[in-house]
Amino acid sequence: MKVLIRGAGVAGLTLAHELATRGASVTVVDIRRQIAGNASWQAGGMLAPWCERESAEETVLSLGRGAADWWSAALPGHVMRNGTLVVAPARDAGELDRFGRRTSGYRAIDAEAIAALEPDLEGSFTRALFFAEEAHLDPRRALLELQQKLVEMGVRFDFGYGAVHSRSADVEADCTGITGRLTGLRGVRGEMLILKTSEVALARPVRLLHPRIPVYVVPRSGNLFMVGATMIESDAAGPITARSVLELLNAAYALHPAFGEAELVETGTGIRPAFADNLPRVERDGNTIRINGLYRHGFLLAPAMAHKAAAMILGTETEKERAHEAHH
Ligand SMILES: Cc1cc2nc3c(=O)[nH]c(=O)nc-3n(C[C@H](O)[C@H](O)[C@H](O)COP(=O)(O)OP(=O)(O)OC[C@H]3O[C@@H](n4cnc5c(N)ncnc54)[C@H](O)[C@@H]3O)c2cc1C
Repeated sequence: MKVLIRGAGVAGLTLAHELATRGASVTVVDIRRQIAGNASWQAGGMLAPWCERESAEETVLSLGRGAADWWSAALPGHVMRNGTLVVAPARDAGELDRFGRRTSGYRAIDAEAIAALEPDLEGSFTRALFFAEEAHLDPRRALLELQQKLVEMGVRFDFGYGAVHSRSADVEADCTGITGRLTGLRGVRGEMLILKTSEVALARPVRLLHPRIPVYVVPRSGNLFMVGATMIESDAAGPITARSVLELLNAAYALHPAFGEAELVETGTGIRPAFADNLPRVERDGNTIRINGLYRHGFLLAPAMAHKAAAMILGTETEKERAHEAHH
């Protein structure tokens, strides 16, 4: 079976992995010149289905809880299973209660337990929620290493404008994210920045609640911290706005004042592809399969979507999956 995958974001690469491990002949093409700059490149890399349940459907939790295992199996050593810490400034303590009411899978902890988990936050917060089962990875390292692994498995890659002309394949998989311009697909702009400092150490993503702009800080190797992310109903991909820089930096500074002295090494914008219900879809249209609408859950939900799409492509869906698809 020859499969042509359009799009080398997290949707396309996870699908390539599912197909290649089952023996399909896979080519991935991307209109970009390299794996960088797309929505997947800008992601935080949080695998946080319990936290996401705060604003997402139960499906996100049920489909996402296997993501850390999928990534661990595909890329051993990449997934950090240190949980997520959710905190709120004293004046927004009500936000913590609200978050707790809308989620599950956490322990409410006190200042002493916060300091034990994250010594650098000692004395900063009196209460927090600790989601011990959650995980994170560095999305850029993961994408690059997945591509490398796929090449070693025999998957062909072709990049650039010239790469996306039509080619012969038994099946095409459209994983083009927001560029897919599918009916009903909209863009949700997410801005982020990367700070560098050796003055702060965190072992896990920390979410700082705020009634207007909830923000998270995700630690990466090399003293880097990804600070994200705005949620703006727009598919304008231009540079980060001054207001967003201010808000993200304010939040980082509120989490730890040493972030005020950090180097601002990068700012970025990614456009999350989303359908009206903010849930992803795998659709079939003749010989084309589409994975899209990963919204703010690309790394979390792509493994489950890729699994489903690969089963459709290879004709290995279960009766239940086929009935579900027919129903929709
Ligand atoms: C700031 C930010 C933070 C995020 N944080 C997280 C997080 O912590 N956890 C999480 O799970 N998710 C997170 N997300 C969401 C996640 O990044 C997206 O859901 C995901 O990247 C969407 O992946 P995709 O492969 O569908 O799209 P993309 O990554 O955009 O990939 C689509 C690819 O298709 C290519 N393409 C377009 N047109 C064509 C064509 N005609 N032919 C060939 N190729 C084409 C594009 O060049 C691109 O490379 C975040 C998103 C943002 C913006």
